[in-house]
Amino acid sequence: MTDEVLHPDDSENVLTFTGRFDTNADIRDRLNLVEADKPEGVPLYCNHGNVLVDEHSRGLTCRRCGAVVDPFDWILTRTKFESQVDWQLKELRQEIKDHREGLEKLKREETNCRARIKTAQFRLNDVNMALLAAGEKLVKVKGEK
Ligand SMILES: [Zn+2]
Repeated sequence: MTDEVLHPDDSENVLTFTGRFDTNADIRDRLNLVEADKPEGVPLYCNHGNVLVDEHSRGLTCRRCGAVVDPFDWILTRTKFESQVDWQLKELRQEIKDHREGLEKLKREETNCRARIKTAQFRLNDVNMALLAAGEKLVKVKGEK
């Protein structure tokens, strides 16, 4: 008598042990397309900013996360970014122009204020001179009495 006869292999009739605890464990096995797990040590989000250009395989590989990068998508992303930079640059130039115009207005206002101060000083001087003359006249009138 051999061991095969005493203990026949009926393992296909037995439920797997993990199946008792995770009732959905078999779902992943039934799928046709399964998403691969992310390798360990790879950042959660990577914009693939640094790429290795392999002339031999004609492909791009991210130097940070190791992902194979689609060349068109990579160029498109960079193009969109540069379009944003272009738009921001135009906005900043308009802001500089507005600030220069504001500065010119402030300079004109400063010149006008200096001229008004000078005019006011001349008027104040005239008032002081008239006040002094009136005071001397008053002293003279009082002295005559
Ligand atoms: Zn990457």
